[in-house]
Amino acid sequence: MSADVEAAPAPVPATAARPRGVVVTGAAQGIGRAIARGFAEAGSAVVAVDVSPDLAPLGTGHDAVVGDAGDPDVLARAVARAAELGEGLATFVANAGVTSPGETVGYPLAEWDRLLDVNLRAAFVGAQVARQAMGPGGSIVMVSSICAVQGFAARASYCASKAGIEGLVRSLAVEWGADGIRVNAVAPGTVATDMQRAMMASGRASPQRYLDRIPMDRFGEPSEIADAAVWLASSRASYVTGVVLPVDGGWAIGGLPARA
Ligand code: NAP
Repeated sequence: MSADVEAAPAPVPATAARPRGVVVTGAAQGIGRAIARGFAEAGSAVVAVDVSPDLAPLGTGHDAVVGDAGDPDVLARAVARAAELGEGLATFVANAGVTSPGETVGYPLAEWDRLLDVNLRAAFVGAQVARQAMGPGGSIVMVSSICAVQGFAARASYCASKAGIEGLVRSLAVEWGADGIRVNAVAPGTVATDMQRAMMASGRASPQRYLDRIPMDRFGEPSEIADAAVWLASSRASYVTGVVLPVDGGWAIGGLPARA
């Protein structure tokens, strides 16, 4: 091993406070709530955004903005508040999402537009607004899905929206890489939330059919998606950009699970 590698690390010079502000959309419940909680536990000042009037701040030092995650004014308010509470904006998490299964023939175009607006357009608007408040450095994390890279019957709008998220992540990572703004995504598999419970209750696929696809033989917990999102945004991932990290118990790698 060379002397360079063995040399003691230089002491870190004192610098100005590192930005701690974080905005998480769709943070009233489910995965978004867990992500917001994860950032708060990691020492961030978190502003939660959600259309749900039940939205509550995480506690002292955090805040909440009730509104549509696709509305630039709502996002600007949330970003400004996070920057105020956290001495700058460190991270924006585009998590808000909806699902609306249906056969393609006869699928209402208004529903296609609504789904693409929430799942894809809002993430783009969020990135636009957040980028202007960030720098030098910063991180954007988007929430994709295994549906981005696999086909699911009667879920064309959802799958298309998530494939769009992954294109967005790669494009923005390249566009803003030299500015130190990292852009990544987590791609959850099947996670126990209201969205997933509604899918199962619709009768389109039984819980067992999902489990049959998951090598780890269980659904994910929202906190497991949160851990990945917090890591992607952290300095521990300082050279990671433009990636989509599957957090899916092995679903995306396919194969044949061990059970009979
Ligand atoms: P969820 O339990 O339904 O929570 C989503 C939250 O987003 C709800 O509070 C919802 O409010 C809110 N929301 C919806 N539209 C919004 C808008 N326009 N502006 C602001 N907030 C809005 O869903 P989840 O399962 O946690 O899903 C979170 C994200 O993970 C989504 O992007 C989803 O596509 C993705 N994902 C989930 C799974 C899974 O298995 N659960 C798997 C892969 C990816 P209302 O309830 O009032 O509408």
